[in-house]
Amino acid sequence: MARIIHQLSLNENCSPPLPGVVEALSGALDQVHLTLDALADGLAADLAGRLGLDAGRVVAGAGSGALLQQFLTAHAGAGTTVVHTWPSFEMYPLLIRNALAEPVAVTGPDDRQDLAAVAAAVTPDTSVVLLCNPNNPTGEVLDAARLRDLLDALPPHVLVLVDEAYREFAAPDAIADAVELHRTDDRVAVVRTFSKSHGLLGLRVGYLVGAAEVVAPVRRTTPFYRVPTIAQAAAVAALKAEPEMREQCERVAAERDRVRSGLLDLGFDVPPSGGNFLWLRLGARNREFVEHLAEDGIAVRALAGGSGVRVSTGIPEANDAVLRAAGRFAAGLA
Ligand code: PMP
Repeated sequence: MARIIHQLSLNENCSPPLPGVVEALSGALDQVHLTLDALADGLAADLAGRLGLDAGRVVAGAGSGALLQQFLTAHAGAGTTVVHTWPSFEMYPLLIRNALAEPVAVTGPDDRQDLAAVAAAVTPDTSVVLLCNPNNPTGEVLDAARLRDLLDALPPHVLVLVDEAYREFAAPDAIADAVELHRTDDRVAVVRTFSKSHGLLGLRVGYLVGAAEVVAPVRRTTPFYRVPTIAQAAAVAALKAEPEMREQCERVAAERDRVRSGLLDLGFDVPPSGGNFLWLRLGARNREFVEHLAEDGIAVRALAGGSGVRVSTGIPEANDAVLRAAGRFAAGLA
């Protein structure tokens, strides 16, 4: 296989950390011998203040992956089912099984999320409904009306955890804000991360919002010192740089949409996406497409058992390379 020149299989942020974040990181380096904020409560309080929530409704953790696992371990568990849509984040079934719960995958038509079918899959044994918004890998965005309808259809004992790992890449007026839904419905919990839009993947910072009694057991299972001081400092600086972060995400979203329209022109089936990635519905030709791009040094991802290939949005040069390779692929098929 050719050397990877464009890494577009991991949904990484294609921009380096913002200058304010780098500055905060270097400023924090000579403090690493000092006592840590063991559970990153300072960061959680900062987030709670920004969101206008009580501090007890926010907990910080070592990325959203860790928080998803803590949440499921605390609130799902043996004998319960966790209903989620499919295709979605490949880790969900694993995290659910790690919590000793049983995953129930609900597949909608054309890979879309069918929330009526999600509600229909809920039984008295269901502890949690887990949704990804925008959905990785399909990019589908759920609006507030669809989530409200789902909440109306669910029994009171079921918690709804919305994973908003990619929310900043979606149009703000199109995507539900699960924190807003949480304000009027304690069943709603939200997990967010600094790994994607803020570009702090390597520092491992995320947070979870939920009712105080939902957050408390998650906080109790947060390992001490898992979010290092430097990561906390970077996250606080990233929050201060919100306008620049938004601009960066808008640039990525514009590139994503440019690639999508190029692919549509070539005849590919690509649903609109609110993430920093696109989902090419290639069916049986998945593997062939991945291998074709690999010959040009472009790494993209065919999801296990999925009907499509996920292509992350990169810098313009990488996106141009995708369009060129996709053009040759389409010509070969004609
Ligand atoms: N949720 C989704 C939907 C993801 O795609 C990812 C990372 N690929 C995560 C959560 C975990 O991200 P992190 O632990 O870096 O916050």
